[in-house]
Amino acid sequence: MCHGHYLTAVPLTPLIGHTALRARLNEQVVRGTLAASILFTGPAGIGKQRLGLWLGQRLLCDSPTADGPCGACPQCKYAVDGVHPDLFWIFPRIKGKNEPSDPDVDQVREYYAEATAERLADGGIYPRPDGSAGIFLAVSKAVVQRAVLLPAMARRKVIVVGDAERMVSQAASAESANAFLKLLEEPPSDTTIILTSSEPGALLPTIRSRVVAMRVRALSEAEVREFLALPATEALRKDRSIPDLVRAMHGAPGSLGDADARAAAVQRATAMLDAVTRDHDRLYRVAYVQGSAKSRGPFADALDALSDLLHRRARDAADNGDARMAANCARAMVHVEQAKRDADRNAVPQLVTHALLAKLADTL
Ligand SMILES: [Zn+2]
Repeated sequence: MCHGHYLTAVPLTPLIGHTALRARLNEQVVRGTLAASILFTGPAGIGKQRLGLWLGQRLLCDSPTADGPCGACPQCKYAVDGVHPDLFWIFPRIKGKNEPSDPDVDQVREYYAEATAERLADGGIYPRPDGSAGIFLAVSKAVVQRAVLLPAMARRKVIVVGDAERMVSQAASAESANAFLKLLEEPPSDTTIILTSSEPGALLPTIRSRVVAMRVRALSEAEVREFLALPATEALRKDRSIPDLVRAMHGAPGSLGDADARAAAVQRATAMLDAVTRDHDRLYRVAYVQGSAKSRGPFADALDALSDLLHRRARDAADNGDARMAANCARAMVHVEQAKRDADRNAVPQLVTHALLAKLADTL
């Protein structure tokens, strides 16, 4: 990936569907009744963040039409390219190895410019942020600081916070937490804040009570087909038929990345289990290959999938009256749990995997 070209990268994938909600939001903007702090809830992958960016674009647009943003003015162009300085999109991300623990506002913006370009690169389909990704304290701080500055080029500022339940525990800094809550409660008059969450129950009550929640619905099958007809989604259609994709998406195009990540995790887990039950001699090689995930997320997912496989195997063994196998699988699951703890402690995945496979080979 070429860092120098991020700012000329791919524009946002057009927003599909949510027609009724869009009309309602547009009307509220026209009447001046739109809440200053909003929460979009609904299933993962249906386009809540994209809708938030659409609403942001509508709020910044110089000459909105009856249906929404004009799509042609400079504000719209910058917004659609994902580079509008007054449309700040944040979401959980994994901290880079060399990042300072307390980056300043400009650094935070830079990180998100890169992360945004990555998200836009694949037709707007990106995997759900894994367990080690978060919206870190420095980011909430940067949002608060950004909110008090004047807009850079539009008349307003809009901040979209995706997967807002992943804002890192506020316990670490009561001061920052309070500053963010105060911002939600009473944003500056030129600022709109849009949170999204597919797990609103996981949001702090102090956050939930300060926002106006709106339900976003899954797309209809026709809308999913419309999404799949977009030029931006061409790569998706290369190896899979439209009916297959429509089925996999379940009204939530964004869930596809998730489904694929799950399938990959199960594949890795199956390879590990096959190695210990059939192929003892190749343990190290398998450990090397299966442990070579680029980040901890996919590796942790593979270990989760391995737990599931062992659980299922234990149940099948018990059903078949094979008490010894059931007990062995239960013991193996303990080893997997240990490997998960090691992985959480940042141990080298290949070593964790090798130690795990050796133990599993003894156990199973
Ligand atoms: Zn416009």
